[in-house]
Amino acid sequence: MVHYKLLTPGPLTTSATVKEEMLFDRCTWDNEYKEITQKIRTKLLELAETSKDDYTTVLMQGSGSFAVESVMTSAISNQDKLLIISNGAYGERMVKTARYIGLNYRVYDVAYNEQPKVEEITEILKVDQDITHIMMVHCETTTGILNPIEMMAKLSSEFGKTFIVDAMSSFGGLEINISELGIDFLISSANKCIQGVPGFAFVIAKKEKLVTCKGNSRSLSLDLYDQWKEMDKDGKWRFTSPTHVVAAFARAIDELEEEGGVPARFTRYQQNNRILRERMERLGFKTYLSEEKQSPIITAFLFPNERFNFAEFYSFVKERGYVLYPGKLTDENTFRIGNIGEIYQEDIEELCGIIEEYMGVVTK
Ligand SMILES: *Cc1c(COP(=O)(O)O)cnc(C)c1O
Repeated sequence: MVHYKLLTPGPLTTSATVKEEMLFDRCTWDNEYKEITQKIRTKLLELAETSKDDYTTVLMQGSGSFAVESVMTSAISNQDKLLIISNGAYGERMVKTARYIGLNYRVYDVAYNEQPKVEEITEILKVDQDITHIMMVHCETTTGILNPIEMMAKLSSEFGKTFIVDAMSSFGGLEINISELGIDFLISSANKCIQGVPGFAFVIAKKEKLVTCKGNSRSLSLDLYDQWKEMDKDGKWRFTSPTHVVAAFARAIDELEEEGGVPARFTRYQQNNRILRERMERLGFKTYLSEEKQSPIITAFLFPNERFNFAEFYSFVKERGYVLYPGKLTDENTFRIGNIGEIYQEDIEELCGIIEEYMGVVTK
């Protein structure tokens, strides 16, 4: 098998030292292991710039969608109504999840390359007074668009709604001051900007909201309240925890701190993203989004011409050590390059060299 680095938004390339943590098999009920879980829960609150008095962290087995579903089924009761703000595949997944659970919901959606508009949402909140909860994706990984959570947080608190943010692909890579914004539930996962491996996700929840979730969940495994109550005792997970993933994640948090915390990581991501976009532009690739909407996480590029064959391009780049990500748009031909993970400027430079070579080869 050829080894390659991942230029995808999770799973992503992790450090050797993060992977090394998984070489030891840990015991779930052992104190040392339980302390790792508690340390992770505390550190996540610090990264979120929140205090232990007002917020808590609940870890949940599974991929990011499991935690999104867990919040939806636990925080939103049959008496509530949810407003889903959508401009991409992950917003659409929320809609699908709401349907599966049987939630009372409505959708506000805009085109994939547009941000939601404050006036339109204000209007919905004025007219539809049944709405109790609002959900939104921070960085829509479908396109890489950054959605205005500050604006939504403000609106949500003005109207007295519960605000739930899918910050899956942004938390740890972009500064988010959860308590200042008054976010009630923020969801992210182990294998995104904190640079761990896949296997669990986490929810940073305002305690006063979490305590009201008791008995709401339509799913046993995904009951966020029960998971919290059990974990909060001494760090033991309710059901089998992904021990290797948890150990690797604790190491990944240490490495985030060693790098200089979220601001330093943001700077690395942003610089690499800028270099990538500039060099790709010179090679004839246009971005799907205009620059001001672009997150430093992942970039969608349009196919440069009609002859462009993504499968061939993908193989060419993969053979030379990097894996790219297909597009997820229905109306435009795109592919995506993620720049989160253990990826540095020299990787981006090398990648662009490979792409330059490919473009030279195919135009000859
Ligand atoms: C990765 C991601 C998810 C979760 O997807 P999984 O495949 O379940 O891990 C949810 N929302 C966003 C914005 C994501 O980037």
